[in-house]
Amino acid sequence: MNRLLFAASLLATFMLSAEPLKLNTRARTLSAVGGGKYEAVLRTVQWDPKKTAVIVCDMWDDHWCKGAAGRVGEMIPRMDEVLVGMRKQGVFIVHAPSTVTDFYKDTPQRKRALAAPFAKTPVPLETKTERWGTCWLYPDPDREPANPIDDTDMGCDCKVKCKIEPPWKRQIAGLSIGDNDAITDNGQELWNLLAARGITQILFLGVHTNMCVLGRPFAIRQLAKLGLNVVLVRDLTDTMYNSQMRPFVSHYAGTELVVQHIEKYWCPTITSTDLVGKPAFRFREDPRR
Ligand SMILES: [Zn+2]
Repeated sequence: MNRLLFAASLLATFMLSAEPLKLNTRARTLSAVGGGKYEAVLRTVQWDPKKTAVIVCDMWDDHWCKGAAGRVGEMIPRMDEVLVGMRKQGVFIVHAPSTVTDFYKDTPQRKRALAAPFAKTPVPLETKTERWGTCWLYPDPDREPANPIDDTDMGCDCKVKCKIEPPWKRQIAGLSIGDNDAITDNGQELWNLLAARGITQILFLGVHTNMCVLGRPFAIRQLAKLGLNVVLVRDLTDTMYNSQMRPFVSHYAGTELVVQHIEKYWCPTITSTDLVGKPAFRFREDPRR
């Protein structure tokens, strides 16, 4: 290769790897101008892909709620497009299918998480409480009021109510797992992986906003408490919410309410538009247009 070509290819490589992720974030803060109400705050930020990870939360192969399983299926093509695109840009991908990581015990991606050198967290991880097979961070009364939707019935929104019998065995097969990805549902393992790579920024996606997206040991409450810079990809998530329960809005408006709760008390959100350059994903039955 002649010298000029070599220089040009070096430059191209450099430009490719140095291309920042441009994120249009939405948060909500109390506004004096707005009469003490929460108002959306929009910002554009640039993230170095090398310091960024995607965390894929509980995208299981099946769900006890048929409706929830159907919506996960609908999200898969767009979500995988995000994973493939981010992987190409050098973003680290962590798959976190809670309680079924053993399915992957012989894979390099699972072994990578187990082998990451121990790194001490800046604050202790929540390890005392457990729910649904992992450590759990319950709502933090110092930081957030009650959830804006009533999910005490577990949130099946089907006409004929589904029986609560967890059927999941693995992550859904439609999501690609790359050679350099990792698999864990453990907070310490996740921290070890991130620390080894100097990663401080998290793109969080998966299900469900009112449950695992907030409470799991690799999820938003814990990540925020660790001081990580986290954003939720708000069009690639769903909620366990029955529209026959308070506040009696559509399933999708229920998700939006939980998203706004997260934007007020935990972290900003983006849409996958920032990651794939296409209009935000919408569920087929979402009546909001
Ligand atoms: Zn159901």
